[in-house]
Amino acid sequence: MFTTEYLDLPPLASAGGSVTLPGSKSISNRVLLLSALSGGTTTLHDLLDSDDTRVMLDALRALGCGVTTQGTTTVIVGLGGELPAGPARRLFMGNAGTAMRPLTAALAVLGGDFELSGVPRMHERPIGDLVDALRQLGCAIDYLGQPGFPPLRIGRPRLALGAPIQVRGDVSSQFLTALLMALPLVAARDLVIEVTGELISKPYIEITLNLLARFGIEVRRDGWQRFTIPAGSRYRSPGAIHVEADASSASYFIALGALAAPTPGQPGVRIEGVGADSIQGDIRFIDAARQMGAQVRSGANWIEVSGPAVAAGVPARLRAIDLDCNHIPDAAMTLAVMALYADGPSTLRNIASWRVKETDRIAAMAAELRRLGAQVDEGADFLRVHPPVRWAAARIHTYDDHRMAMCFALAAFNPAGLPVRIEDPKCVAKTFPDYFEALFSVAQAPSDAIPVICIDGPTASGKGTLASELAHRLGYHYLDSGALYRLTALDARRAGLELDTAHEEAIAARARVLPLRFAGDKVFLAAVDVSEAIRTEAAGMDASRVSVLPRVRSALTALQLGFRRLPGLVADGRDMGTVIFPGAPLKVYLTASAARRAERRYKQLISKGFPAILDSLRADLEMRDARDSSRSVAPLKPAEDALLLDNSDLNIAQSIDRVLQWWQGKQPFGAGPSG
Ligand code: C5P
Repeated sequence: MFTTEYLDLPPLASAGGSVTLPGSKSISNRVLLLSALSGGTTTLHDLLDSDDTRVMLDALRALGCGVTTQGTTTVIVGLGGELPAGPARRLFMGNAGTAMRPLTAALAVLGGDFELSGVPRMHERPIGDLVDALRQLGCAIDYLGQPGFPPLRIGRPRLALGAPIQVRGDVSSQFLTALLMALPLVAARDLVIEVTGELISKPYIEITLNLLARFGIEVRRDGWQRFTIPAGSRYRSPGAIHVEADASSASYFIALGALAAPTPGQPGVRIEGVGADSIQGDIRFIDAARQMGAQVRSGANWIEVSGPAVAAGVPARLRAIDLDCNHIPDAAMTLAVMALYADGPSTLRNIASWRVKETDRIAAMAAELRRLGAQVDEGADFLRVHPPVRWAAARIHTYDDHRMAMCFALAAFNPAGLPVRIEDPKCVAKTFPDYFEALFSVAQAPSDAIPVICIDGPTASGKGTLASELAHRLGYHYLDSGALYRLTALDARRAGLELDTAHEEAIAARARVLPLRFAGDKVFLAAVDVSEAIRTEAAGMDASRVSVLPRVRSALTALQLGFRRLPGLVADGRDMGTVIFPGAPLKVYLTASAARRAERRYKQLISKGFPAILDSLRADLEMRDARDSSRSVAPLKPAEDALLLDNSDLNIAQSIDRVLQWWQGKQPFGAGPSG
């Protein structure tokens, strides 16, 4: 996962292939709590690993649950409906509504001494209706900040279970879910919950009821108004539970299949891990996507999507819709972005709950769609999106809201071929940490549209540090082309070959099929970790020797071009800008005086525990410069359109800032923060 402040998506052209999605957030956090409240051991398969589930797991650990994780399996040893006695506990809920609300209810009926808080946005998300309901039961809950909002203190209840409990259903369905999960803990008699106001997001209540049944609680339901937890209800672990993939996450890939041109030779976008018969309400997004023209097929655990039928060789546009979205509140955000590609204005109705989610999603959605050029009408509980007449290259502000980041990535398929900047892309970690990687595994851009920044220059000029840090900051891939020459030389040596012209073809033949593998900071030749072996001075000299052999250079060309993958590449070497990526939009030629470079290399080697002598390092360096610059093929020299950067007197941060400034100057987004 990258740590960028923003991620620039180049214009994307088509989509196809298969993607496996992470587990459902709603199911994951519910089954975690239910497992914790049950007795004995529950094994959870394919649980989501994200910010929100980590919040829940940390809280459960703090409460005394056993939690062990191995691969995709998590084992919970439950509390059996009782909290071990202990001192006051402070639980941090981040911005996870699916942890905050149900835990509040469960802890409040069980009683103890707890403080529940979250990030500042969590302290703006309402919880008063739930607290009111719990107080009717005799629970002891105090507000530590604003009345009606977290943080909360929970004490020991004096339960009064006679009368039906009233709870509002028209702000968040999570209040009802929280009560439904907490009350079986104290169901000495029939407990009745009455919902006041029209219950929103009913499908989430269906998930709750479905999972309660799996844990032994058969709730009786009269319409959507009255729910009874039968006397004597007790949580019983089902032993093992499989978490289906997240249907809300699936919405981005369903939309992708619907709006992107198909990749030649691929039937569409295939989603693994969830099917149309999912228990998650957001799966009904499929119907909305169909109304817009998507062609969807599904099996038990998969969905396949392609766009509207092609008429006379021309793909049809998506159809505009007018839809009540109350049943798919989260996935409906994806419809708002699909609406950009529709043949007229689309209206999404009955979405008032958007206002109290991770951010005010109606306001946020309207503001960001407008940046892309759409005209948007916004009401208290609806949004109308008119597709852009003229698309604009936009920086999308994401409001610490994972869904904003995920759905707006789809704007990169705009017909104007403009890039899209997603600010704070790592907010997707709330529910889908590898979202962008998953997107890039099924989205394609023409190779020459994928941005490349070339950093060329002599040995020890600091290219590697600069280039890898740039890649990290931009969320781009990184090509250390020098490492390929070092690996080629090492491989040849290990095969007993002299590194000279007489063995050129033999070395090149091996280079074409080099059994390379990069894994994080490590690099492997076949199964052997050669990360250190290729970094010695001798290995650098050997690399320089093989790099003068033209057939070796051309053998490595395809390998290097293969690094140009979405969303972009920073490539460091000698001939990145002159030979390998001559069309790159930014080429930097990085130099520093020989004295400075020798000094840096010396420090680097000493710090790694390698022996080094400054004077001989400098002599070697100058010799390598001479050989690299004077060879006949791809000699070391700045590309004609390269920008020169002498970093003799710059530190790393200053060099990075300089190059980032140059890069920003080439983007169509304009300078300065988003307004
Ligand atoms: O950058 P590094 O020191 O790892 O490169 C090792 C050697 O590989 C260089 O001295 C140069 O001779 C060769 N090389 C090259 N073309 C590149 C990268 C490295 O010829 N693109």
